[in-house]
Amino acid sequence: MKFSDAGPAVQAPAVSAPATQRIVKIRRDYNRWVANETLEDYALRFTPRAFRKWSEFRVANTAIGAVSFLALEAIGGTIAIAYGFTNAFWAILVVSAIVFLTGLPISYYASKYGLDMDLLTRGAGFGYIGSTITSLIYASFTFIFFALEAAIMALALDLYFKLPLTIGYLVSSLVVIPLVTHGITLISRLQLWTQPLWIVLLVLPYVVVLWKEPSAFVDFTTFAGHAETGSGFNLLLFGSAATIAFSLIAQIGEQVDFLRFLPEKTRENRVRWWSALISAGPGWIVLGAAKLLGGAFLAFLALQHEVSLDKASEPTQMYLIGFQYVFARPEWALAATTLFVILSQVKINVTNAYAGSLAWSNFFARLTHSHPGRVVWLVFNVLIAVVLMELGVFKALEHVLGLYSNVAIAWVGALVADLVVNKPLGLSPKYIEFKRAHLYDVNPVGVGAMLIASLLSIAAFLGAFGPAAQAFSSFIALATAFATAPLIAFATKGRFYIAREPVPLPRTGALKCVICDNAFEHEDMAHCPAYGGTICSLCCSLDARCHDLCKEDARLSVQVMNALERVLPEPVTEQLKSRLAHYVTLLLGFTLALAAILALVYYQESIALAIAGTPALPDLRAVFLKVFAVLVLIAAVAAWWVVLASESRKVAQEESNRQTNLLMREIEAHRRTDAKLQQAKEVAEAANLAKSRYVTGMSHELRTPLNSILGYAQILQKDATIPVNRRDAIDVIRRSGEHLLGLIDGLLDIAKIEAGRLRLDRGEVHLPELLDQIVKMFELQAEIKGLAFRFEGADALPVVVHADERRLRQILINLLANAVKFTDSGSVTLKVNYQREIARFEVTDTGIGIPDRDLARIFLPFERTGTANQRGDIGTGLGLAITRLLTELMGGEITVRSEPGVGSTFEVKLHLSRVDTPRTTPRLEADIAGYRGAVRRILVVDDQPIQREMLANLLLPLGFDVRLAASG
Ligand code: ADP
Repeated sequence: MKFSDAGPAVQAPAVSAPATQRIVKIRRDYNRWVANETLEDYALRFTPRAFRKWSEFRVANTAIGAVSFLALEAIGGTIAIAYGFTNAFWAILVVSAIVFLTGLPISYYASKYGLDMDLLTRGAGFGYIGSTITSLIYASFTFIFFALEAAIMALALDLYFKLPLTIGYLVSSLVVIPLVTHGITLISRLQLWTQPLWIVLLVLPYVVVLWKEPSAFVDFTTFAGHAETGSGFNLLLFGSAATIAFSLIAQIGEQVDFLRFLPEKTRENRVRWWSALISAGPGWIVLGAAKLLGGAFLAFLALQHEVSLDKASEPTQMYLIGFQYVFARPEWALAATTLFVILSQVKINVTNAYAGSLAWSNFFARLTHSHPGRVVWLVFNVLIAVVLMELGVFKALEHVLGLYSNVAIAWVGALVADLVVNKPLGLSPKYIEFKRAHLYDVNPVGVGAMLIASLLSIAAFLGAFGPAAQAFSSFIALATAFATAPLIAFATKGRFYIAREPVPLPRTGALKCVICDNAFEHEDMAHCPAYGGTICSLCCSLDARCHDLCKEDARLSVQVMNALERVLPEPVTEQLKSRLAHYVTLLLGFTLALAAILALVYYQESIALAIAGTPALPDLRAVFLKVFAVLVLIAAVAAWWVVLASESRKVAQEESNRQTNLLMREIEAHRRTDAKLQQAKEVAEAANLAKSRYVTGMSHELRTPLNSILGYAQILQKDATIPVNRRDAIDVIRRSGEHLLGLIDGLLDIAKIEAGRLRLDRGEVHLPELLDQIVKMFELQAEIKGLAFRFEGADALPVVVHADERRLRQILINLLANAVKFTDSGSVTLKVNYQREIARFEVTDTGIGIPDRDLARIFLPFERTGTANQRGDIGTGLGLAITRLLTELMGGEITVRSEPGVGSTFEVKLHLSRVDTPRTTPRLEADIAGYRGAVRRILVVDDQPIQREMLANLLLPLGFDVRLAASG
């Protein structure tokens, strides 16, 4: 893979990538400690520009403060005593040069991208989970060094204040916590204020010795220490000395933990920026080398003053001798020493504790997917150190450090190789990717190089390849890692750096995280397909539910299986996926961890016994073995329990995933059905609209010629010159025309109702008045036919109801018209009943009746029973259809009972709410006024039943004599 120079995000507007959101978002609220960035100090994030507001000097000064650690003098003293001046000098020089060279690229990348040691490691060849190993080593380093430095301080407290060591350990540890809780904000202040005094106290003894006893320096250069080869140079001794000093290479981690706060490099600040970077980054070793040599010199001086061999490399003793040159009175010298030691150790231990809190945060956040806050890990780190000190396991710790430093050197070697070889060669991306969302869990480049180099150099360190290799084990670690990283990068074609192409995000302004709702700079954000939005690096790190949906092939388990499938036959890899394999792996891990811890304690105890003069008892070993056996048994049960628990969790997870999937599918299906329904509805509506438009248009086209025909028929009927037999023909023409016109009007109504275009026009209706008009109209018609007309129930009616008056009238007129039409003798009755807001209108006649088989049919359009009434009057077949549609439109129902030859009863039930305080309605009057203009014209030209009925309604209240008008 070739990597472009561009950063992770391409300059492009944000695209909201269509993502299927699979996980329900739960808003993450960080606790007070995590949310407060002064406490949190971007422990798990890149350091945003907005927070990098300190001056270059302030940041550099803070980082430089760490150089105060007295372990430097102790190491210098130790190697000078063990290997003589010449070997120590060259070892210090060579190692310092290497430390400087490795520190330079690390500092540059960390400062440029605002990354601490862990984030840098992730991106520079180790991968997201790969760097948990280095986090753990780094964290261990910080608490081991913390313990060693705090112990030096406790010695000083003991010396001056006679404070017992056990309490001294506690005091010198706990004092650091409040100084580190507020991160760089407080630490930078502390370093700033203590720096001047510290420098004076540091330099003073050397200057005074130089002044009072310059010969001491000359004598020092011939100091042979324990070296059997004398004061000359010896390659093996040089190598051993260098190996001890080499552990300092990891100090660059603590430097960059602060350097990441440097402001962005610009044209204006570039000189200051580079000065700060070089002096506080790799430059720490310049001062460090001076202190190493100073320690060597002071140890030599202490020996001159008859300090015992084992005490001469203790910094407190060294500086006590030094200050005795400065102050004539011993108590002054002691006070100055104590002050200097306390100052130095507080300065270094704030840094150790700070770096440790970052490393633990990083380690546990990835392991447990939770982050209680940097402050918690700060306390945790200090407490481990306290326990180590109180247990007094210093000798064992030093041995562990020796082993550890091989791993640390291998780590730095692989890291630097990535930065200075792989990146320029294009084997690794130009920028540093640190986000889980875009990283492989393990990148074999860094992890592989570190493992190979560590194993090789530890084997050498333990003497597997002879004394020369043993002496140079550190060099082996560095060289192997440095060479292997590019080789692996080349072999894997840089495939494991970036897990997926980043979705471009806008590069300006802050972006909001979908989970925690906080805003961060774009470097800290990634597009998350699981949550369907932009997620911040911390929420991403802590998510345990997404199962790396964005990069499934980049998960550790998948990577491991893929790697195994390449080298092992398939049946074996299948077996490896089994429960048993899981169990065995886990138990092996537990057992190894137990063995390591017990071995450490055993080692420590046997040293203690040896010092006490008792040789390591066989009993001790037996006890340890028994304890180990018991613990392994417990671990065996625990491992089985863990396997089962993780399996049941997996099953539950799968089940819930399956359910979620089903639900998602169902939702999707519903959505599709819904869309289809909507579509069908739209199609139907469109068709309906088209139909009703068509009907409207057509009825208009038909009505025009029909009106002409009717007009002429009327004129001809009145023409006295036309013979009587021809008048019948004209009468047929007129009746047929009227029938057609009725059909057209009815069809138009039905079309409107069916297209849903007929809107009810509800208002206040004066019910007695309406009924009175209708009754008057049909009394008239019944009378013409010689029928009796009855109206019942008028007294129990509400005065005003809420209804569409026009439609209500239409319904009643249709029913009554039918009753009159199909009744030749007897009576027609309209009965009204009103109860609990339900109005019941019953139209009963003694007419021809309807046969049972026709009862359902008559409500369909164009359905007639065919039993013509006496006059042979056959209707349009639309009246009842319209009546039923209107009734239903008004929320009511219509029923019919009938017996042929006896009569029929149509019943309409409607919900008509009562209006108690009717407003005076101008509408009726307006309607009438509206109709008035048309009245005369229709009266003149037309005489058809529907219009006649309508006119009757309108004209009766106005005092018109309808009978006159209807009969022409
Ligand atoms: P139209 O009266 O215009 O023919 P309708 O839809 O009003 O159309 O009536 C449909 C048929 O139902 C009528 O043709 C008639 O046969 C029958 N019908 C309706 N009302 C009555 C009634 N009161 N008595 C007997 N038959 C009726």
